[in-house]
Amino acid sequence: MSKPVVAIVGRPNVGKSTLFNALAGEMISIVKDTPGVTRDRIYAEVSWLDKNFTLIDTGGIEPDSSDVILSQMRDQAQIAIDTADVIIFITDVRQGLVDSDSKVADMLRRSKKPVVLVVNKVDSFSKFMPDVYEFYNLGIGDPVPVSAASRLGIGDMLDEVVKYFPEHDSEEEEDERPRIAIVGKPNVGKSSIINKLLGKNRVIVSDIAGTTRDAIDTAIVHDGKEYVFIDTAGLRRKSKIKEELERYSIIRTVTAVERADIVLVVIDAVEGVTEQDAKIAGIAHERGKGVIIVVNKWDAIEKDNKTVKEYENKVRTVLSYMPYAEIMYVSAETGQRLPKLYDMIDMVIQNQNLRVATGVLNEIMTEAVAMQQPPSDKGKRLKLYYITQVSVKPPTFVIFVNDKELMHFSYTRYLENKIREAFGFKGTSLRFFVRERK
Ligand code: GDP
Ligand code: GDP
Repeated sequence: MSKPVVAIVGRPNVGKSTLFNALAGEMISIVKDTPGVTRDRIYAEVSWLDKNFTLIDTGGIEPDSSDVILSQMRDQAQIAIDTADVIIFITDVRQGLVDSDSKVADMLRRSKKPVVLVVNKVDSFSKFMPDVYEFYNLGIGDPVPVSAASRLGIGDMLDEVVKYFPEHDSEEEEDERPRIAIVGKPNVGKSSIINKLLGKNRVIVSDIAGTTRDAIDTAIVHDGKEYVFIDTAGLRRKSKIKEELERYSIIRTVTAVERADIVLVVIDAVEGVTEQDAKIAGIAHERGKGVIIVVNKWDAIEKDNKTVKEYENKVRTVLSYMPYAEIMYVSAETGQRLPKLYDMIDMVIQNQNLRVATGVLNEIMTEAVAMQQPPSDKGKRLKLYYITQVSVKPPTFVIFVNDKELMHFSYTRYLENKIREAFGFKGTSLRFFVRERK
């Protein structure tokens, strides 16, 4: 299911990071067990009542002059318009309404995207409310007063935000076609892969019904079946600032991955696998999407009989958190092995949707426990009572035990390996939750 995307836009120092952190809370550490992925605060998962969404902070580095501020705000607003379902436009009651706020508000209004106008630093409603009314002049609706620092008004603000979410992900949910995001650093060959796959196939460049985002989706028919490719390469932004470019590229990746079933992580064979690749692949891993690692430009490197093995070792080392992902060596230039991608995509989709019967799972667990004794601490041994699969995409399991504290990460990993030995689950991460039953 694809989650709505909410983007925060606003001038420097209005409190974007403070609001972002207040909303993201502990959730910010979602990337903690993904080595190689730095904890940058660009995006986070947020839950409010029964709604979940991806929050994006479009703000980057601090500009130093006011004309730079305006152009940077326009860039931020454009990114938000391109990628978000709802935009939080944040202003500052203490600085009051300034000219660049009005200009950005005009831009947001023209985009017709849902905007929630937030006035921050209203630390005391009685003292600052009269100043809040001024923000009606922006013409983008009722200002919502908050104090991000003291978490005042945040609930009311979130109520306004979630009002704009679609009731059900109706049309996108009903769309049975596999959705495949092609992600990777600039110049690894993402567009070339799509173009080569398109070849002489019938082309439908489509606005997928039900999305409120401007996506560049391409439907390709292969063997009578339609696949929808989500390209992150198409939207190129001009910026001289490296940090800003990286931020944009992460935002594009997060929003594309969010909408996808399967993610093709494209790596440049000539350049080799890098930390930046690990960061990008980590986004797909965290979200539990199906993953295929595509090493492109395979035509362009010198090969002998050790090359594949050496490449595999390097990729497995840098992307060590996703041993489950298959690696394919392709060339968008010559088309080598590209048609095989479809079989791989089909297989990964099947695995993402695979359900294992509870009886079978418990047999595997019983056998695993007999082969390797569960850990114990201070004379108390872990007992595993029962395991059941509760959902798919990604396959998610709940294990009932006597004491959660005794369930070590390594023992969960051991059980995961046993389940994978039996069912493969190639291309998909598995999730485990441990619950206590007395
Ligand atoms: P950003 O540049 O938009 O990300 O802004 P920051 O989140 O870094 O905040 C800028 C400054 O405003 C910091 O000194 C914050 O402590 C302060 N600030 C943020 N929210 C509030 C608030 O609700 N009330 C007050 N009084 N100060 C705040
Ligand atoms: P993107 O930024 O990831 O979309 O990358 P592009 O598709 O624009 O490709 C970047 C450059 O790499 C272009 O000059 C392509 O011609 C080249 N390229 C892409 N795929 C291959 C390949 O399989 N082999 C070789 N030799 N070059 C490739």
